[in-house]
Amino acid sequence: MAEPTDKQGHGQPGAGQQLIKFACLDCHSVFKRPVADIGKRNVPRPIEVRRCPACGCDAYLMSSDFRAPPKSDAKAWEVVAALTRAGLPYFRIYEDMPLSAFGHPARRPKAILSAQYRVGPWPETMAEAKEFIARHRDKAMPFVRAD
Ligand SMILES: [Zn+2]
Repeated sequence: MAEPTDKQGHGQPGAGQQLIKFACLDCHSVFKRPVADIGKRNVPRPIEVRRCPACGCDAYLMSSDFRAPPKSDAKAWEVVAALTRAGLPYFRIYEDMPLSAFGHPARRPKAILSAQYRVGPWPETMAEAKEFIARHRDKAMPFVRAD
């Protein structure tokens, strides 16, 4: 007898899978689904797009760092939607840091050849979001439809 198939991917993660957060930018639902396990859930990966179980619109894979605003907070969700649709759904991203930040060359530790810092904090207004997206476009991840 055939195993019942689970077309929506509900349930516990199987071998080589992990549960990861998805957010619907239309109805503001957040749910978890098993996806291929490729390591840390806050590190950039292709953004899987799945059908939202609540409204049937597109739901996007999010970083585990993403904290959903209240469903009724339309302004906050507008920012979430802008970042996510730009390919930046709260994954941890890093930028090179000028060595001058460590002070005069004669005083900085000689072992430091390059440095990076974690980009943050995440924007909270649309004006901040637009600036952030323009600046970090090069770190945007591609979208993949998973169902
Ligand atoms: Zn939805």
